[in-house]
Amino acid sequence: MFDLKSIVRPNIWGLKPYSSARDEYSGKEAHTFLDANESPYNNPYNRYPDPLQRELKQQLAALKGVRPNQIFLGNGSDEAIDLVFRVFCTPGRDNIVTIEPSYGMYEVCADINNVECRKVPLNSRFDIVADSLLEVCNDRTKAIFLCTPNNPTGNTLDAGEIRKVLELFSGIVVIDEAYSEFSSQPIWRPEIDKYPNLIVLNTLSKAWASAGIRLGMAFAQSDIIALFNKVKYPYNINILTQHQAREILSRRPDVEDWIKLTINERLSLMYAVNELDICQQVYPSEANFFLARFKDANRIYNYLVDEGIIVRNRSRVKLCDDCLRITIGSPKENTTLLSALRRYYYN
Ligand SMILES: *Cc1c(COP(=O)(O)O)cnc(C)c1O
Repeated sequence: MFDLKSIVRPNIWGLKPYSSARDEYSGKEAHTFLDANESPYNNPYNRYPDPLQRELKQQLAALKGVRPNQIFLGNGSDEAIDLVFRVFCTPGRDNIVTIEPSYGMYEVCADINNVECRKVPLNSRFDIVADSLLEVCNDRTKAIFLCTPNNPTGNTLDAGEIRKVLELFSGIVVIDEAYSEFSSQPIWRPEIDKYPNLIVLNTLSKAWASAGIRLGMAFAQSDIIALFNKVKYPYNINILTQHQAREILSRRPDVEDWIKLTINERLSLMYAVNELDICQQVYPSEANFFLARFKDANRIYNYLVDEGIIVRNRSRVKLCDDCLRITIGSPKENTTLLSALRRYYYN
């Protein structure tokens, strides 16, 4: 049912990609590199980075349980999201489907690429119904974007409904798992071998504590990854990022500790916020943030700003009236937030 060629933009399918000096020669034996017009000075920054990030992908492949040719690395997940549009969607013609509320970049990338974005509201449990998503698709729908755990609601989406979408939709299904390390639910990355239309997104920006280096990952079958590599900028991941990514990936025990601490803090902070008189509801979370409904979210938001504490005001987002999205910080930061909220209560 899924036929990759039939959903890729014809100009991309036929594209002859730029071939860089480092593409044409990537062996290790040589010692004198006079092929790329680089400076011989200021080592190691004088050299172009590996365009396919082979060493980093080798390390990631072992960690993530995939093959290196099933990995695309981007300048943040945002690059991978944008590539879905540039590879699959013909501007002014095709459309994508996503859920509402969710991560804003899917719609922004659609707008930038002049691709229609069809948004299907989540139900009252902030969950999806496969049929409602499939219903709005037509023969010009190239991709469905899902996010689980979802941002800003914090919950994971129903696995049975996701599976139904994967099986019944003949275009690309993107599952953004930016927060999966904080979740107790099964992840989707191992399913790429089973579903030729699945792209799973991960990032170093959240659990891996490296938002500043900009490294996002897409996992899919190798034919999709090959298309991404053909379209991306040749040297999209700089050597500083490649180096720092390998460093943090080698500190997995530390990262595991940070994740455990964040999950423990999530439990106690959610409990404490729920106890506040000004809080109407705390929504379940499998992420490093949670959504909470307050009596007057705008006023509380402004009060916190005055206190020097910034949370995310989501009160103008569909289904999120009077909601603030609160990131789990360090124990000290969480205490600071809580005591400010308790003081507001006595205002
Ligand atoms: C934070 C976040 C990302 C990460 O984006 P990067 O560009 O990798 O920093 C991706 N998806 C969602 C839903 C997010 O909330």
